[in-house]
Amino acid sequence: MTQLQRIAIAPAQFQQDQIILTPQQLHYLGRVLRLREGDRFIAMDGLGKWWLAQLATEQAQILETLSVETELPVSITLVAALPKGNGFDEVVRYCTELGVTCIAPVISDRTLLHPSPQKLERWRRIAAEAAEQSERAFVPTILEPVDFISMVKGQESTVNGQKYICEARGNYPHLINCLSHKAQITTDQELIIATGPEGGWTEKEVEIAIASGFQAVSLGRRILRAVTAPIVALSIVTAVYEV
Ligand code: SAM
Repeated sequence: MTQLQRIAIAPAQFQQDQIILTPQQLHYLGRVLRLREGDRFIAMDGLGKWWLAQLATEQAQILETLSVETELPVSITLVAALPKGNGFDEVVRYCTELGVTCIAPVISDRTLLHPSPQKLERWRRIAAEAAEQSERAFVPTILEPVDFISMVKGQESTVNGQKYICEARGNYPHLINCLSHKAQITTDQELIIATGPEGGWTEKEVEIAIASGFQAVSLGRRILRAVTAPIVALSIVTAVYEV
């Protein structure tokens, strides 16, 4: 099945056992992927479902539902302070590949970038492409940027989960030693990880996060770039819960 081409389809395009394809999708399947009538491909709704489909003239026939098991056993929200320039594109791409469920871009006291509305669209497109490439069942949700303190306070009521704020300096325990044991986690468990901007979190931000139930953690002895830290944090979580 891996050699089949995959394409994301909006849920509204599914009509019983048919997929109504848009002109852009027909162009992509026919001209870019060079599929012909009768050829098979995989249709994904980005919400956890995959189907084996067969191309017809202006639509596709659904042949069977496929099962996908590429998701992590825990739901991860990455709260990441926006780095400078286009750095967040990389955060979205690599963390999607690693299995993140939701990405919440935040503006912290030392955030330099104040993104345009087009950025959000761009990040959502990158997440969809990365999810497709990694054969994910779900496309991660990318939330609108909000200020860090509001985000943290909004998470105060999260009880069924683990909340961590990554701090580059200070004598904090390593994230790997803080994550709940694999045997204790359930699929409805939420894990929230916050990483800061180039200039780091302010003391006040860390204090508020801790007061809101976050635990301050280290990702090791070296200072990682604002773009690298979320990728390292996600890699640690996948290594602990997936292997
Ligand atoms: N300018 C800050 C300093 O010199 O202390 C470093 C900020 S670092 C470039 C950006 C963010 O990545 C930090 O706020 C933190 O969330 C995360 N980070 C980087 N290295 C880390 C480490 N070794 N442990 C935990 N978090 C780290």
